[in-house]
Amino acid sequence: YSSYSKLLVVCTLSSGGLLAYSESQPDVSTHSVEGDQSESKKKKVVVLGTGWAGTSFLKDLDVSSYDVQVVSPRNYFAFTPLLPSVTCGTVEARSIAEPIRKIIKKRNAEIQFWEAECTKIDPSKKMVSCKSNLYKNLVGNSEFSLEYDYLVISVGAQVNTFGTPGVMENCHFLKVLKFRMQELEDALKIRRTVSDCFEKAVLPGLSEEERKTNLHFVVVGGGPTGVEFAAELHDYIQEDLVKLYPLVKDLVKITIIQSGDHILNSFDQRISSFAETKFQRDGIEVLTGCRVISVSDKEISLKIKSTGEVCSIPHGLVLWSTGVGTRPVIRDFMEQIGTGLYHKLFMLPIEIVEWKSNVYPIIYAQAFVFQTDRRALATNEWLQVKGCENVYALGDCATIDQRKIMEDVATIFEVADKDKSGTLTVQEFQDVLDDILMLRGMKEQKWDIEGFKSALCHADSQMKSLPATAQVAAQQGSYLSRCFNHMEQSAYNPEGPQRFRGSGRHRFLPFRYKHFGQFAPLGGEQTAAELPGDWVSMGHSTQWLWYSVYARLIGLLLLESRFALIVVVNGLHINEFVLP
Ligand code: FAD
Repeated sequence: YSSYSKLLVVCTLSSGGLLAYSESQPDVSTHSVEGDQSESKKKKVVVLGTGWAGTSFLKDLDVSSYDVQVVSPRNYFAFTPLLPSVTCGTVEARSIAEPIRKIIKKRNAEIQFWEAECTKIDPSKKMVSCKSNLYKNLVGNSEFSLEYDYLVISVGAQVNTFGTPGVMENCHFLKVLKFRMQELEDALKIRRTVSDCFEKAVLPGLSEEERKTNLHFVVVGGGPTGVEFAAELHDYIQEDLVKLYPLVKDLVKITIIQSGDHILNSFDQRISSFAETKFQRDGIEVLTGCRVISVSDKEISLKIKSTGEVCSIPHGLVLWSTGVGTRPVIRDFMEQIGTGLYHKLFMLPIEIVEWKSNVYPIIYAQAFVFQTDRRALATNEWLQVKGCENVYALGDCATIDQRKIMEDVATIFEVADKDKSGTLTVQEFQDVLDDILMLRGMKEQKWDIEGFKSALCHADSQMKSLPATAQVAAQQGSYLSRCFNHMEQSAYNPEGPQRFRGSGRHRFLPFRYKHFGQFAPLGGEQTAAELPGDWVSMGHSTQWLWYSVYARLIGLLLLESRFALIVVVNGLHINEFVLP
């Protein structure tokens, strides 16, 4: 999971893009937030967020064509795949952060950055309200608003506690909590707490049970982040800490609590089993089928799903890593734009009857709202927020709407209904299908009318599976910057597929995600990999595969990028290595 993404990211950075792009000429004029906005002839682009999606968008955007302003409460880009390594000291925190102003400076272009949080998006006024998180010692007003012609929302997601009592107060996180934005600080806090747990455990006068409690590290969530943290922690304890605290070495325990039946359940089943067997060998306990119902400073309460039995386990540290939730500003925005009923009628399900060479769709009318996905902002395949012109959403805060296919089909039949009393010839129907399949990137496949519904289901399931990862966010960022760079040309020379609604073509090709695979580091020089083409590889050899890829990269990079160095350091588990 993380490692492969690390590789991809290194490629991105090393290509000189993020750190050294300087094609556009700088516009040296400076202006205040509100003052000169109206005077600028360039379209105003406001980017919310400096994470994977936002930074990747900025990296490739032709800034000479736009007046760009970036708003984020975090004035640096954080290389999240290496966060678990920061918790155990394998990598220094400062090595995985790149100041956003440095990135902007290296672009040698005029991009304004405001260290603030967007608190409200008003699509009717095309305006965002922001508040600086430095308001405590600020002389002056901490609140301001920005107008936009285009808004790029890339604010990511926040940790999801599912409302479980005590989680906020008593757990550690690797993904930011509501109102807190400092993932790096959280990672450092975990590092300090692990060391404190050992110091507490060796204090005189403690019973063996008390020492064990202090040394019980619990990870809630058996996804890639939780598993990688458990593996890193295990290595850190076995390779370093037990040597420093020999008296308590047999009292340390790591437990992973997973609500599903297996850990790493988004991976191939062989990888899940491999990880579980390895963890069993390493003495890492994996409790599956358990739901955490509360967390206190001393205990964590669980419900065993199969029996309904509730039990408590004492802990020294809990890391909460159970997926992502929606940020308040996004929830508010979704409420604003999601309340209008969608005007079109959808067909769900579609019944198709063929009779005398004609195809009759039977339409089941259903009213929809624009934003029904409650986790993230629904966009179309061009990453435009549904129901909002000139607003784009990418990365963890967005999802491509699956019902798009249904919508297209509905429109086609709607048009047919108007023109031809609800009928299409088989040939027309086949043409429509071809168009849909081309739009979905499936044009090589042939479908007959009977296979139509399964084709739609297949296309639906393909679109559904975009994970909340840096890979997706970074690809979406560069896709969107490319669209922005071709905005003018595409108006008279559109490159996209034929429009279903109205005539002509779409301006751009739809976003297509390319999955390059994922690695799951499991500690002890072992890694599992899932690569394109359903290729699965596990164990020490995969770790070497991983090294070899990075070694090659290092050669290519000539150590130009700090990130490359960090990745190799991380891969070889060289502790205490401080980068310049
Ligand atoms: P983020 O990168 O989270 O960036 C969001 C940005 O928005 C931040 O700059 C934030 O400060 C800013 N922001 C937040 N609220 C506001 C607001 N109100 N106004 C303005 N700005 C705001 N993915 C992989 O592909 N491979 C991995 O190995 C991997 N490992 C991971 C390890 C960990 C520990 C974690 C936490 C995640 C990992 N991920 C990995 C997932 C990956 O980090 C995310 O999918 C990715 O960061 C999403 O990018 P994003 O730009 O949408 O959001």
